[in-house]
Amino acid sequence: MDSYTHIKQEDRELYDLIEGEEKREREGLELIPSENYVSRAVREAMGSVLTNKYSEGYPGKRYYGGQEYTDQIENLAIERAKALFRCDHANVQPLGGAAANIAAYFSWLEPGDAILGMDLSHGGHLTHGAPVTYIAKLFRFTRYGMKDPDTGEIDYDLMLETAKRERPKIVLGGFSGYPRSLDWKRIADIAHEVGAVAMADVAHIAGLIAGGAAENPFDHGFDIVTTTTHKTLRGPRGGMILTKGTVSSPLKAPEKTIQNLPTLVDRSVFPGFQGGPHMHQIAAKAVMLSEASTPAFKDYAHQVVKNAQAMAEVFTEGGVRLIAGGTDNHLLLADVFGSLGISGGEAETLLDRAGITLNKNSIADDTRKPFDPSGIRFGTPAITTRGFMEDDSKQVARLMLDVLTKRDDETVASAKEAIRALAESHPVPASFV
Ligand SMILES: *Cc1c(COP(=O)(O)O)cnc(C)c1O
Repeated sequence: MDSYTHIKQEDRELYDLIEGEEKREREGLELIPSENYVSRAVREAMGSVLTNKYSEGYPGKRYYGGQEYTDQIENLAIERAKALFRCDHANVQPLGGAAANIAAYFSWLEPGDAILGMDLSHGGHLTHGAPVTYIAKLFRFTRYGMKDPDTGEIDYDLMLETAKRERPKIVLGGFSGYPRSLDWKRIADIAHEVGAVAMADVAHIAGLIAGGAAENPFDHGFDIVTTTTHKTLRGPRGGMILTKGTVSSPLKAPEKTIQNLPTLVDRSVFPGFQGGPHMHQIAAKAVMLSEASTPAFKDYAHQVVKNAQAMAEVFTEGGVRLIAGGTDNHLLLADVFGSLGISGGEAETLLDRAGITLNKNSIADDTRKPFDPSGIRFGTPAITTRGFMEDDSKQVARLMLDVLTKRDDETVASAKEAIRALAESHPVPASFV
């Protein structure tokens, strides 16, 4: 545990709040599939003096002096990202996943151009054109989705048909609420058939790809891949844009060709969209990229999937309908309203009382409104970092089912006890707290 001695001295009010959050993270079970625990090494880099430094530009081409260490740090992160994801170039400056996507769109598109992405209610992300975003006002989003929500199969024929009709400049594969694998090759082929760039947003599954537990879109013809660095990758909150192609001088506007994507992306991130990079965050990304290339991380990534599948088994046996019929990755979507007659919102609140954190979620063709939808979404990245194996994951799933079916105070209280015991017997590893 951190001592936070200086915060304690200077700002008691804030200190108490941070302590409260530490306790919450330690004692409860985190099942939000986009959350995780980062290592002490990652947090040390985040808390380092690098936050003091302005480094606008790229290594060797900065607008400020004093870059002898920052240049090397950014290059280290870039080289590690390229090696881990098998690509030609990495931009490690995006401040988050949304920033990475926006910069990627602007590297290739003009306002009014079309993007073909996953239907939001079938698992796509807000940044894939939700009407509430500015991005949706600038670009024209068209959609593909599941053919059958009970198997999760994507309707690739319809996707090709839509691509031919709408002529998107980007075909986007990626999701934050889809439990199956996408057919990367099929999507890349569809993109290239209509002359579009094939872009994958692997924000959720980047850690599984790094650990070899999910397929890498670059192995199937993708041109550009965006990701967050804080979800399954277990790094600092942030983003990256990875590309195939050749880097030329980012000071000169290059022609819009796939070969020039690395340069187009670099110019789009800075000066196009962001200001000075957060060097402390980039240093923490370098730490994460080194950790994610170890054999231990491979084991972690595979265990994340095994644990999710173990939970899926319990829910299916318990008569709960899982969207896509199960999972190939780290997350599950359960139709709790259709199966148990409890709304997603009520389920979230009840489980929260038992010490389990997850989120309500719309399901495909949801009959309920988004603020209290039919489903819950949950996943195993954080509990797997705590050392949960299949049996432990099944026990969590059984406790969840018990709470969601009985719903009385006694059941919630007894589940809470059991959850606390599970959390205590699986402390966040010492190198992570
Ligand atoms: C989480 C996520 C993002 C956004 O990441 P932020 O860091 O929250 O901005 C983008 N795309 C997908 C698919 C995501 O799951």
